[in-house]
Amino acid sequence: MPESHALRRDRLRPAVTAVGADAALITSLVNVRYLTGLASSNAALLLPADGPPVLATDSRYALAAQRDCADVQLLTVRAVETALAELAVARGMSRLAFEAQEVTVARHEALAATEGLFVLVPIGPAVEELRVTKDEEEIALLARACAITGAAFDHVVPAIRTGMTERELAVLIERAMVDAGAEKPAFDTIVASGPNGAIPHHAPGARRFGAGDMITIDCGARYGGYHADMTRTVVLGPAADWQREVYALVAAAQRAGIDAAVPGAAAADVDAVARDMIKAAGHGEHFGHGLGHGVGLEIHEAPQLGVGKPGTLGDRVPITVEPGVYLPSMGGVRIEDTLVVRSGAGPAASRQLLTTTKTVTPGELLVL
Ligand code: ZN
Ligand code: ZN
Repeated sequence: MPESHALRRDRLRPAVTAVGADAALITSLVNVRYLTGLASSNAALLLPADGPPVLATDSRYALAAQRDCADVQLLTVRAVETALAELAVARGMSRLAFEAQEVTVARHEALAATEGLFVLVPIGPAVEELRVTKDEEEIALLARACAITGAAFDHVVPAIRTGMTERELAVLIERAMVDAGAEKPAFDTIVASGPNGAIPHHAPGARRFGAGDMITIDCGARYGGYHADMTRTVVLGPAADWQREVYALVAAAQRAGIDAAVPGAAAADVDAVARDMIKAAGHGEHFGHGLGHGVGLEIHEAPQLGVGKPGTLGDRVPITVEPGVYLPSMGGVRIEDTLVVRSGAGPAASRQLLTTTKTVTPGELLVL
């Protein structure tokens, strides 16, 4: 792993030079992890345009940093940002690039007060842009997170029954994910039953499942820092005609979205393929969110698939495809998979589906 982190740092150096800085002060914790391997709640990285990097963290993480980041110089200190800014100045670097999207005004003031520091220049989302394209080590971790998610989901489906609460099912899934090897859930599990299904990010509550309820389950495991994201919608029988119709529509839109997610496709066009189908069926206003998003060290990261979103998909870019139709007071359907866009030969080789379930085939409504 240290070699891949060194490679990532080398890929960032041109961005440091491009903004006219001597070094970048990376303070986003997830970006520090991406560039060094250190998972810490208090860390920062000084990356010179040309020269050895310095990783700062406090004593709570010093041993982990020594173990996991043997290839970078370590500085054990509590005030990681100002200490690295002072070190930069001491080493003759007076122009620092910083991550304006995550540094607060107060922290910027503290940095700007560093004696001898002349320029603080924003580097923009340079690391986030590097993170869009994953290396094979990252994809392997994400694939494992997704495999755990699918296995945990399949494990709990037989337990779903009338009278169970949303919260009970959410806890069962999260427990099953940890039992299957997850570090923890990638996000708070969503279980939305009956009319609650009309709320895309419903927080599972005390509502008990009843006959005829559709149940939307959005869950994911975290493994090696990587986040899986998957949604399935099932119904406790008997299924009504409207439920079958909406499900078939969302399933078809999801299939079309997945098929459109190939290298070179514009993110907005992939969204449009699925959205147009839902609009044509008269449900345009019932699909308010984007079609999907990048996943990796964060559950939501670039690129975004949505109306007017910039960018095109490329090789080794993991995304979700998750259309939904939400009918107020009735319920909703969402189907979501995590997949990796690949530049292989032919349509089948241009993507790698990571989330699969044996109990539910997304193209077919499971009636329990
Ligand atoms: Zn999700
Ligand atoms: Zn998602």
